[in-house]
Amino acid sequence: MHRCCFSIVWLMTVSIASTLLADDALRVLIVDGQNNHHWQATTPVMKKAFEQSERFTVDVATSPPKGHRLKDFCPDFAAYDVVVSNYNGAPWSPEAQSAFLEYMRGGGGFVVVHAANNAFPNWKEYNRLIGLGGWNGRDQRSGPYVYIKDDQVVRDETPGPGGSHGPQHEFHVVIRDRQHPVTQGMPVVWRHAKDELYDSLRGPAEQMTILATAFSPKSGRHEPMIFTVQLGEGRVFHTPMGHADYSMRCVGFLTTLLRGAEWAATGQVTQAIPDDFPTADEVRSRDDSSK
Ligand code: ZN
Repeated sequence: MHRCCFSIVWLMTVSIASTLLADDALRVLIVDGQNNHHWQATTPVMKKAFEQSERFTVDVATSPPKGHRLKDFCPDFAAYDVVVSNYNGAPWSPEAQSAFLEYMRGGGGFVVVHAANNAFPNWKEYNRLIGLGGWNGRDQRSGPYVYIKDDQVVRDETPGPGGSHGPQHEFHVVIRDRQHPVTQGMPVVWRHAKDELYDSLRGPAEQMTILATAFSPKSGRHEPMIFTVQLGEGRVFHTPMGHADYSMRCVGFLTTLLRGAEWAATGQVTQAIPDDFPTADEVRSRDDSSK
């Protein structure tokens, strides 16, 4: 009898606690499971950062591995405030694609990280949402190259492949929009940890706002590194950064991810720039054990 009562009280406590948390926290869904990158190492870095911020709760939807049928893989996108893609693999089922597009049409938030912009080259609506993409057959039919030259956004229709990068290295991220909620308050120039610097991405780039760029020694251009796409009610936040776990541990990347996800979910940002944010001269990264 006593044991039974104890269980009921415990269940009620848990239920009240989750209700309180749900009032405040934004619900994040990270999608992974297929990627030509080591998603098993990178998803936990993002998940931990979201959870430690106390602004988010996180679930992960992991697809069946490469070569397995995706027929039954259909995450419940509508149950979340923002979906983060760490996925670059086989096409989702028609049902999953429809559910995702319906979620975005209904005002959903979407965050595109690194190779997620390689995914789905033939899914037109996805490419409109991500703005720019690379590889997997992308070329002039996908849309223009987009970069900044002499402080002007250039839409370059020159024929050629979409997607390229040189050897990994540390590089400077330059804020181009200091008023946007995501980048407001960031140092105008900050040094990013070792990463692949994607260049020559191409895509429809409709309703795209470039918030930050990095100069690529390979393309000789100032390439978009932080940008948004707003189509209808949906908000998309896109960063081509984040090749590996060590790239993601950069406080600049993590801050960008968390603020970008909050903006995609709500249109606003309440999270402050942390004290350990990188400077123009110094990379700042968090190791596995630190907060
Ligand atoms: Zn990569």
